[in-house]
Amino acid sequence: MGTMLHVAVWEADDAVATASLRAARDAVTRLDSLLSNYRADSDVTRVNGAAGSGEWVHVAEETADMVALSLEFARETSGAFDPTVGPVVDTWGFYRETGAIPPPAALDSARALIGWQRVEVARDPARVRLPAAGMRLDFGAIGKGYAVDAALAAARAAGARRVMVDLGGNIGVTGGGPDGAWPIGLRHPRYPELPFAVVDLQEGDAVATSGDYERFFVHDGVRYAHIIDPRTGWPVQEIASVSALAPNGTISDVLSTTLFVVGVERGCALIADLPGVAAVWVLAPGVGETDTPLRAVVGGPAAHRIEVGSGLVVSTCDDAVR
Ligand code: FAD
Ligand code: MG
Repeated sequence: MGTMLHVAVWEADDAVATASLRAARDAVTRLDSLLSNYRADSDVTRVNGAAGSGEWVHVAEETADMVALSLEFARETSGAFDPTVGPVVDTWGFYRETGAIPPPAALDSARALIGWQRVEVARDPARVRLPAAGMRLDFGAIGKGYAVDAALAAARAAGARRVMVDLGGNIGVTGGGPDGAWPIGLRHPRYPELPFAVVDLQEGDAVATSGDYERFFVHDGVRYAHIIDPRTGWPVQEIASVSALAPNGTISDVLSTTLFVVGVERGCALIADLPGVAAVWVLAPGVGETDTPLRAVVGGPAAHRIEVGSGLVVSTCDDAVR
């Protein structure tokens, strides 16, 4: 998945520990083989390649599950999370780790290919179809979280009771941490060596972060990063990072991107009644603003589990929606 997988298992029995580690790794490897649009032989690449042909592409059950789940989240977030955003991500160059502001005509044609409502998925046998040539599924904002959940389930099935899985910053835990909870540091969006906050993960929790510091380029002093607002086809620029705490890896992954796209006010309203959910937005500094402290906004029913350190100006969702 283009990132590192770190699995920690606390288990007295060596054989169980080894079997659990292997099971977690194999679960992630399998999902990578099905859902990656960086592999020529994956289900997703075959579905994307057949877009517009009218052909159904037969896929693994897990792939059909991922498509169905992604469409559900797209519906629930009114399209702020949209797994068909791939053509626009590609037009900005973010898959090729290059990056340039696309010509308006190229962006318009890419935007015309976005539309989660047009994706077709069916069962018995599991199959997916994209109606227009050039449409492209992209599970970048949900796949790692989904893989964290699968890895935790596989490790538990192999006998481990206390496991932490970290897949490129998507972190999920099961069983109490070394001394109860699992304190996880959240990376500062501008000073990577410094965590700016700590989130207290407990049994079954997960945390994910979306940031403008992963895949981005700067043009005329302005930063353009890989989190796209599907309504405009443009990278979101007001936010530097969003970390989302949620009851599982999939939800935390989708939420971190969704809350990045919708921003603080709509985001606070979106999570206000979601049990076990919390988020912290770090607002992007203005162009040229290098020495003013960044602003953080914390919210959600589990907001008490996120502690933001000094050095940022902290407010809450209550302040933001007043
Ligand atoms: P997130 O915020 O979680 O996701 C951002 C990504 O989601 C963007 O890069 C884009 O792809 C997509 N996106 C942007 N805006 C939206 C939106 N509004 N709605 C929905 N999606 C959006 N990268 C490699 O370099 N090499 C690989 O081999 C590779 N293999 C992968 C295999 C799989 C199965 C997956 C899921 C991803 C893979 N990646 C690979 C991509 C890499 O993991 C992504 O950069 C990463 O998933 C982005 O995660 P994030 O948490 O940093 O950002
Ligand atoms: Mg993510």
